[in-house]
Formats: sequence, C-alpha cells, structure tokens
Amino acid sequence: MPNYWKQTGIPHKGWNLIDVVDVREDGQAEWETHYESCMMCGNEKIRYVHILKHPEVSGEYRVGCVCAEKMTGDYINPERRERDLRNRAERRKNWLSRNWKVSKKGNWYLKIDTHNIGVFENKTPFGYKCRIDSVFGTIIYKSIAEAKMGLFKKIEDMKEHGEW
Ligand SMILES: [Zn+2]
Repeated sequence: MPNYWKQTGIPHKGWNLIDVVDVREDGQAEWETHYESCMMCGNEKIRYVHILKHPEVSGEYRVGCVCAEKMTGDYINPERRERDLRNRAERRKNWLSRNWKVSKKGNWYLKIDTHNIGVFENKTPFGYKCRIDSVFGTIIYKSIAEAKMGLFKKIEDMKEHGEW
C-alpha cells in the first residue's frame, strides 16, 4: 500500500468531502465485513470510509478520518459525519431489543417519539409488512426481524429528510 503523504504526485490539499460510509452499516458479523484501507496513507481496517474528490484527480479517494481532515483542511465535518454514523450503528444495535408490544390482533407495534409503528403478517404471499402511523408499507419481508429493520431504515431516512 503506497503512502501518498510521502509522494508529490497526489495533491495533499484541496480535496472535497463527498460522503462518509459505514462498511458495516447492516450490522453484519466481523468476518463478513469488507473493511477498507486508506488510499492515502495505507492504514488498514477502516470501517468509516471518507470519500473525497479533487478537481485535478480523476476518480474518488477512500480514506480514513485523519487523512480526510488533512486533505480537506476541514477538522469538523469528517469527524462529525463519522460520529453520526457511529451513533446510527448504536441505535441500530438497540433497535430490535426495544420494547415492542403485541396487539390484540397479534401485530407487533412500538410507540416511538410521537409515532406508532407496527409489523403485521401478510397471508399471501406469506411474510411481514410494516406500518408507520396509518401508512402501510408494500414491501413483504421474510421475517419479523427483517421487517423491523426495514422500519429502522425508513425512519432513519425520514429523520434525515426532516419528515419524522
Ligand atoms: Zn489515511
């Protein structure tokens, strides 16, 4: 793995932060995770990959937080975005163990913030569907756990867009 900090061919400054991604976003097992290496310094096993672009370099660079800060000259946003993802991973981990209840009809539901969300059985084809307040989802999940995770993603997405 090259260390571009020691070479002159790749600009050290003037990069823009495009995105930060969690390579373990779906909570998969350690051994199933494809960790990345920092393309700038070669540091290995990066979970939160910072994607950078530079006007004079074609393609994107996928680097760790420390390099992202140096390359963008921004010592606030790379770390903040990484922290947001860490918090999301933590919420995701806690999601299934929340206090879900079963209604008289046998449907799962959870009161959260000002909302009432639920998971209910679909007969044909057999599976589980989701509900947020009075809006019913159309995706059929194979298991209750998968349906609950579908709700998690939807809610996170709504929060991001200020719709929650
Ligand atoms: Zn690095």
